Amino acid sequence: MNIQSFDVTIIGGGLVGLALASALADSDLTVAVIEGKTPNVTITPEHYIRVSALSQASKNLLINIGAWPYISNNRHQPYSAMSVWEKDSFGKIAFDASTLKSTEEQSLGTIVENNIVQQALWKTVEAASNVTIFNPFHCQSVAMGEREAWITLVGANDDNKHLTQSLTSKLVVGADGANSWLRRQADIQLTSWDYGHNAVVATIETDMPHDNTARQIFSPEGILAFLPLSESSSSSDTQSSSHLCSIVWSLAPDDAQELQACDELEFNRRLTAAFDNRLGYCQVKSPRGVFPLTMRYAQSFVKQRVALIGDAAHTIHPLAGLGANLGFLDAAALAQELLEKHKQGKDIGELSSLRYFERWRKSEAMQMIATMEGFKQLFAGSNPVKKLIRDIGLVAVDKVKPAKEVFIKHAMGLTDDLPDLAKKIYKERS
Ligand SMILES: Cc1cc2nc3c(=O)[nH]c(=O)nc-3n(C[C@H](O)[C@H](O)[C@H](O)COP(=O)(O)OP(=O)(O)OC[C@H]3O[C@@H](n4cnc5c(N)ncnc54)[C@H](O)[C@@H]3O)c2cc1C
Repeated sequence: MNIQSFDVTIIGGGLVGLALASALADSDLTVAVIEGKTPNVTITPEHYIRVSALSQASKNLLINIGAWPYISNNRHQPYSAMSVWEKDSFGKIAFDASTLKSTEEQSLGTIVENNIVQQALWKTVEAASNVTIFNPFHCQSVAMGEREAWITLVGANDDNKHLTQSLTSKLVVGADGANSWLRRQADIQLTSWDYGHNAVVATIETDMPHDNTARQIFSPEGILAFLPLSESSSSSDTQSSSHLCSIVWSLAPDDAQELQACDELEFNRRLTAAFDNRLGYCQVKSPRGVFPLTMRYAQSFVKQRVALIGDAAHTIHPLAGLGANLGFLDAAALAQELLEKHKQGKDIGELSSLRYFERWRKSEAMQMIATMEGFKQLFAGSNPVKKLIRDIGLVAVDKVKPAKEVFIKHAMGLTDDLPDLAKKIYKERS
């Protein structure tokens, strides 16, 4: 059997795996990407229901690795303000990019459909001379040798003929999502807990325009986010004059199932009321997806010849829209470390070459997990004393400029310890 050898083999061609491959594109490392599903290459006029609020740091990365030009202007929606409030209370906080003096940025982030980002990254990776994509291929086995890992794949060619393939690789990267196959094969233990929430996601039309603002309401029943969508998704778009948002509604699993199953009129009525009628009457315009929410944290992000990134390493509550952003920074940090160690003539799959990446990204992930847990606990329940304290806290932060600036910088992902590719815009690759 023909055996192909690579420096880096990435299992999973989702957002994070493809971002790593793109960050290594045109380097002198050889890279394989293994993706089990054939990516959806058609762009529908309707928005896909899975979207991500990408931070400024993630956008910097996508520009620097050359993927951003493939994201059409009418398929992403920058947002310049955020508004968060608690139901039936005076507690509220508002952020506006224009109040930030220390940055030229006009927006806090941008909302993009996951499929659109994946398609853009896929095109970037396809154009890279040092990257080979195996698709649709699944991993069958992996064995760690002293100097390399051995991987066998099964898949199909263009004529749907069954194929097997063997690879060797100095490093195998698990970017294979929350139920990571590689994490299990490498026997890396997982810390996890159920958030006790399922997220209902859908595209919604509202009476009033969203004014480029992301909104989120906390109530004892759950957390409801309205993320602004571009209002014209294609030139032939029939929805071009409508006001569109994507919702992420996190609530108890039974309530989520009920909301998925109820008829549209009932859903619209409950959604409009839950959102305090802020944007007028809301109408669902897409199927309703439901996603169980679990915190996962891999006890090690690296082992000899193995590294985990993205959801394979950690998953968090979507209340702050940070999962993909964290994953993108994992990809940028790992690429930076691998290129550096390779330049120094080191073996990039050696555990000692991967340790710094692990310390760097574990501490970031841990902070996010703790922050999300704090937020979720703070807003859980309707104890009146707790409610009063958090409402006073929200109003206090809203009024103190330096505290607000720190929050805004975090929302934009512009923290101190960013990988170089996410820091600023170096160049727009063609
Ligand atoms: C409701 C909800 C809302 C969210 N909102 C936001 C948000 O606003 N902002 C944000 O930053 N994040 C958000 N997230 C999180 C974000 O969606 C994820 O963190 C991100 O998509 C993870 O990307 P990934 O590439 O790590 O994993 P995945 O997207 O799961 O990709 C893994 C890939 O690996 C492939 N694969 C798996 N196993 C194998 C195998 N054995 N062989 C070959 N291929 C394999 C899969 O086919 C898939 O393509 C949200 C999550 C949820 C649930």
